[in-house]
Amino acid sequence: MKKTDCLIVGSGLAGSVLALELLRAGSTVTMIADSSRSTSSRVAGGLINPVTGKYLAKTWLANELFSGLAAYYTGLETLLSASFYHPTGLFRPFTGAEHRRSSLAQIAKHGLEDYLRIRQADAAFSTCFTGETEGMYAPAAGWLDMPAFLDAAARYLQQEAEWVDAVFDFAGLSVQEESVNYGEWEAARIIFCEGFYARHNPYFSWLPFNPVKGETLLGVIEDYPADTIVNQGKWIIPLGGDRVRLGATYSWHELDFEPSARGREELLQAAGKMLKKPFSVTGQQAGVRPATKDRRPFVGRHPQQERLWIFNGLGAKGVSLAPYFAGQLVRNIRHGELIHPEANIERFYALYS
Ligand SMILES: Cc1cc2nc3c(=O)[nH]c(=O)nc-3n(C[C@H](O)[C@H](O)[C@H](O)COP(=O)(O)OP(=O)(O)OC[C@H]3O[C@@H](n4cnc5c(N)ncnc54)[C@H](O)[C@@H]3O)c2cc1C
Repeated sequence: MKKTDCLIVGSGLAGSVLALELLRAGSTVTMIADSSRSTSSRVAGGLINPVTGKYLAKTWLANELFSGLAAYYTGLETLLSASFYHPTGLFRPFTGAEHRRSSLAQIAKHGLEDYLRIRQADAAFSTCFTGETEGMYAPAAGWLDMPAFLDAAARYLQQEAEWVDAVFDFAGLSVQEESVNYGEWEAARIIFCEGFYARHNPYFSWLPFNPVKGETLLGVIEDYPADTIVNQGKWIIPLGGDRVRLGATYSWHELDFEPSARGREELLQAAGKMLKKPFSVTGQQAGVRPATKDRRPFVGRHPQQERLWIFNGLGAKGVSLAPYFAGQLVRNIRHGELIHPEANIERFYALYS
């Protein structure tokens, strides 16, 4: 038998960030992931945005999450010798005088001055966008190029850890008091990071997931002038040159990874409202966000089997949440440090029977 500290099932954002944190802490890791299946991480916009929504809601735990996020991802770029973090900032143009007035009132009421500034876009902005050139600018916002990050993490983990590209078969898992056995491995624990596929996990499917399908369009806008993300209900991420990504839709039905005509139509309608120029579609992608009923992650240990763990439920904000909670989970495993009670799955132990 090969010994390892942690078996990790899944190499999306959750599994990859967790594996990197475990290695950093000195644990040994074996990844088991099926590279042939569609995943949420590979189609995500990768946005990082501390203040979201029409009513300017500060992201849960914004101060804790965002204080170290830029340093975290730039540190990973160095470790993984790759470029994937884009601290572009995000611009939300005002739609008129009333929007400006209510936004300023919200900023003052919720103390958002550290996160949002009023800014004037440069002249080229109005050649492309219908909105006003004045708006709110979020300097801490940006985006993570998810495929670039996942590929770089996989290259690193294939060298520094064990990596098995295969479907995880639950029938092959044997859970003992002191360890788990799977194939040729004996591990101190197994941590499931399967995203939406956790609904097939016999040990954790009882958790109250609330998955949400999302779609984005890849496209080209001629002479695209914005180097920040622009958000007006939907967002547009600048991918370099005239290439952009437009997103995203939310649907609690049809939970599949198939691009739909309805998704495309919704996004093109939004583009029509935001833009003065045509949006030429070059691609469409769909995925299912592993969201949860109470909109908090699922982090922690199985109620009865102490060798079984989960890191999931990152929802629509995985890029912002993953580093902070992977760190907490690793410190919990190694030193017994507390996992935030709103993220710890202990909050749902009463549901387990
Ligand atoms: C359209 C869209 C836009 C989004 N935009 C953003 C955004 O702007 N910002 C943001 O922060 N988040 C965004 N998200 C959410 C983000 O994608 C998720 O929070 C995050 O990527 C979830 O990662 P995960 O690792 O939990 O799941 P996944 O990425 O789905 O990974 C699951 C992993 O488990 C593996 N797996 C599952 N079951 C098995 C098995 N039985 N055997 C072997 N392997 C298995 C899969 O192969 C995969 O490696 C978006 C999502 C979508 C769909």
